[in-house]
Amino acid sequence: MAQSVSSSPSDFIREVIEEHLRTSRFKGRVATRFPPEPNGYLHIGHAKSVCLNFGIAAQYEGTCNLRMDDTDPAGESLEYVESIINDVRWLGFDWQDRLFYASDYFEQLYQFAVQLIKVGKAYVCSLSADEIREQRGTLTEPGKESPYRERSVEENLDLFARMRAGEFEDGAHVLRAKIDMTSPNFLMRDPVLYRIKRATHYRTGAKWCIYPMYDFAHCLSDSIEKITHSICTLEFENNRPLYDWILDQLKLDSHPQQIEFARLNLSYTILSKRRLIELVQEGAVTGWDDPRMPTIAGMRRRGYPPEAIRSFCARIGVAKNENLVDVSLLEHFVREDLNQRAPRVMGVLRPLRVILDNYPETQVEEFECPNHPQNPGMGSRGVPFSRDLYIEEEDFLENPPKKFFRLAPGKEVRLRFGYFIKCVSVVKDPNTGRVIEVHCTVDPETRSGFAPDGRKVDATLHWVSANHSVPAEVRLYDRFFQVADPTGDGDDFMKHLNPKSLEILGPCRVEPSLAGAAPGSRYQFERLGYFCADAKDSSTQKLVFNRIVTLRDSWAKISGKGRE
Ligand code: ATP
Ligand code: MG
Repeated sequence: MAQSVSSSPSDFIREVIEEHLRTSRFKGRVATRFPPEPNGYLHIGHAKSVCLNFGIAAQYEGTCNLRMDDTDPAGESLEYVESIINDVRWLGFDWQDRLFYASDYFEQLYQFAVQLIKVGKAYVCSLSADEIREQRGTLTEPGKESPYRERSVEENLDLFARMRAGEFEDGAHVLRAKIDMTSPNFLMRDPVLYRIKRATHYRTGAKWCIYPMYDFAHCLSDSIEKITHSICTLEFENNRPLYDWILDQLKLDSHPQQIEFARLNLSYTILSKRRLIELVQEGAVTGWDDPRMPTIAGMRRRGYPPEAIRSFCARIGVAKNENLVDVSLLEHFVREDLNQRAPRVMGVLRPLRVILDNYPETQVEEFECPNHPQNPGMGSRGVPFSRDLYIEEEDFLENPPKKFFRLAPGKEVRLRFGYFIKCVSVVKDPNTGRVIEVHCTVDPETRSGFAPDGRKVDATLHWVSANHSVPAEVRLYDRFFQVADPTGDGDDFMKHLNPKSLEILGPCRVEPSLAGAAPGSRYQFERLGYFCADAKDSSTQKLVFNRIVTLRDSWAKISGKGRE
């Protein structure tokens, strides 16, 4: 096999792999896997692992399996399996025919457990869960050996078979590894390998009433699939001796190397399925694919391109130390990607009516506007211009402060792709005093965007024609949580939810070219940010746009306000 072994591996995991390739530890093979438990949707942390495992397989011409790590019936479901398959595929990865289910290995795992009993390395323990915990010892004290530790192989085999046959109540017995109750590593103090649990498994139904524990199932699933490098997050570092112990006792030919890396933590959000489930169940969000969720499904619906997520994952790399990555780095990659490919359009979020007093009432011009300023290949579209327009409410101030460069009484600005206009008067709501109409004159000589006399304006405003534009709902998103580390001060992360994380605007007005916007399509609304027609709620009857991201990071730079 021709591997592309680089002269300088980009991270410590690739270093290990290349060392193994040099020493032929796995006969030149590289086989990884991404093993999610289908008990929730994937989040951006999982994306890091997906990119890492599939990326390594591609780089070294190896394989990467997608394995549902579904050995604990609680909370697992087909819905989650389907979402995982969807999300990994959407991220751009292909496992070909290697989609596996750990639950398919139940019989094999059971036989491995029998084998462990036979070699005297596992026993049926009849202590309760509490007793086992009490006897485990502490950091300074060794644990106590179970009184059932010396059961004979025959008795163990008999009891284990009867556990499987359903002869005992849940919790009556467990199967434990016989390792060392004095080990400084708690996980090596005769860990539980199997428990009795009457629960319906989403795939195997009621076939089993005993289920293997994670540590037992995981290493053996890796071995069964002949994985070479079992890459996992740091919290499993202490599990590695147990991983190796089980494979060693069973003398398995396929003995993968476990390698740990730091999980991704992202600011202003949470990355833990357990907690994300809480948000869904408590109704704090509309579902797993709520565009505020750090899930792949949420980001997809929000409009994040998969390429941007992959670039982000490549940039953060892998390391051994945990840290908190700023969510604005992810947004940076989203902007960078969309800047290249999102067609430009105009939309007005908070419409303010502008009337061009000297523009003929029935005249309509169609301006040919390029879809991308740097990429003529993206073509152009016609945008109608007429006497009645909408501009953004915040682009006009009746009594502007000195540094306000946009429209105000007596001031002249340019309309994007169009004329210079000058404000001559306003109409106010007699009850509220609010400006509801801005009257302007248009200079017909400025159609080119320049004044023949060379005079300049300070601002260019986006606009839509009042009678030609179409209504839309626009959903603006802000930080999901108000603090960078929502679980930093304990488990009550809900109290840190940002109550303003979603703002729904409407009716907004968008240019008519958007009338048939396909759900999921992405645009740059000039001056406002990138937007995506909502994949679920947007239709030609009712347009709904999600703001994917603003044009600039308004959190990093609150300055610069008032000037475009
Ligand atoms: P969670 O803590 O969100 O429940 P998990 O680790 O229990 O995550 P799994 O379904 O077991 O979820 O994860 C599948 C793979 O994704 C594992 O290999 C795990 O190491 C990896 N993974 C999970 N969370 C992260 C993260 N935040 N950063 C990097 N990798 C992660
Ligand atoms: Mg897990």
